Amino acid sequence: MAWFLNFYRCDRCRRMWTDEWSCTCDDECPHCGFRNMSPFNSEDLTELIVEEAGKFVVLRSPEEAEDDPDYQELGRFSTRDAAKEFLRSHQPD
Ligand SMILES: [Zn+2]
Repeated sequence: MAWFLNFYRCDRCRRMWTDEWSCTCDDECPHCGFRNMSPFNSEDLTELIVEEAGKFVVLRSPEEAEDDPDYQELGRFSTRDAAKEFLRSHQPD
């Protein structure tokens, strides 16, 4: 299961919002309640690099995740470049 940050724009009130889901699924407008809005853009958050206490931590959302990304730590690196390099060389099949 991947994890996505979805971007929505309401057809009725024209306001925008974002939400995180395990798919690029429809959502309800938090401003006016208009339903079944499809995302106009999605960012894949399955793999993330976050900075923590001066280290760069590589996280991945496992296949089983559904309601929550349930990130698992794959490694810690002293530079962001090292973390990116690790991700490049550890792509799932
Ligand atoms: Zn709306």
